[in-house]
Amino acid sequence: MEEFVMEEAVLQSAPGEAEHPSLGLANSAVALPGGHTADLLGTPARAEQWLAQRDLAPADAGLAEVCATQLRSLREQIRSLLASRVAGQPALPAAVTAINDAMTRVPTASLLLWDEKTGPYRATPHPTTAIVEHALAAIAADAADLLTSPDATRLIACASPPCNRFLLKHGRRQWCSTRCGDRARAARAYARRTTMD
Ligand SMILES: [Zn+2]
Repeated sequence: MEEFVMEEAVLQSAPGEAEHPSLGLANSAVALPGGHTADLLGTPARAEQWLAQRDLAPADAGLAEVCATQLRSLREQIRSLLASRVAGQPALPAAVTAINDAMTRVPTASLLLWDEKTGPYRATPHPTTAIVEHALAAIAADAADLLTSPDATRLIACASPPCNRFLLKHGRRQWCSTRCGDRARAARAYARRTTMD
């Protein structure tokens, strides 16, 4: 059942996600009708797939739970910043700091090693950590771009409850997907019928 809910939720990405991986990250835990949530980063394997689909990490990166947790944590900070931008409110300082930390954290350096027989070579002590830090830095930089670019004026929250996704508005469309649009129209029609009775 969960897999089914999951597939439905990922069927259509919200307008703007293709250009902005930070928007995609913000939208990666989708609130669905009936109190369901589909979390595309729910497990390390899913998080790895999410990164690989966006060319942010190789498919066999070998993410651990701690890496998936870092991604989910950055997601909450980005969601907080997008919500502040949409509401025209000041951002939480901790969220701004989290973005800057992710952007400026130096990825684990590739160290000089010396093999007795074959001589000097370089290797990264924790390749997976480096991969994840690069991905976090790229997403954080994109969030900073999104918030300061002209695109930010088109940033809205999906107007179809209980959906919690953000999108870049094109024309008059207020929702992230046709699914949400259909639900919003059905809710409006129902409200009109009940008012007339
Ligand atoms: Zn929506």
